[in-house]
Amino acid sequence: MANSKPLFNEQFCKGCSLCVAACPGELIGLKGDLNKLGYHPAGLTKDENCNGCGLCAIMCPDMIITVDRGLWHENVDERKRSHR
Ligand code: SF4
Ligand code: SF4
Repeated sequence: MANSKPLFNEQFCKGCSLCVAACPGELIGLKGDLNKLGYHPAGLTKDENCNGCGLCAIMCPDMIITVDRGLWHENVDERKRSHR
């Protein structure tokens, strides 16, 4: 399994929690501190369990989250193989 983890551009997050709901492992939460926009930004809470699936990045309407594309495609390929 890939060990890529998402990176959050926290200063531009609006705290909508869509990524929180999207993560199958419940690994994302809103932080206590405010960002420069006045929102509680999202971030990983249990990053050691992240499998780099990229669902959080796909869900974010403002493209705040990036996951290494090579490893994301590796995950997709892995899922395709497991469904054959
Ligand atoms: S990459 Fe997948 S497992 Fe990791 S935080 Fe995002 S949704 Fe959760
Ligand atoms: S979906 Fe994007 S804007 Fe919304 S809380 Fe997550 S990172 Fe922030």
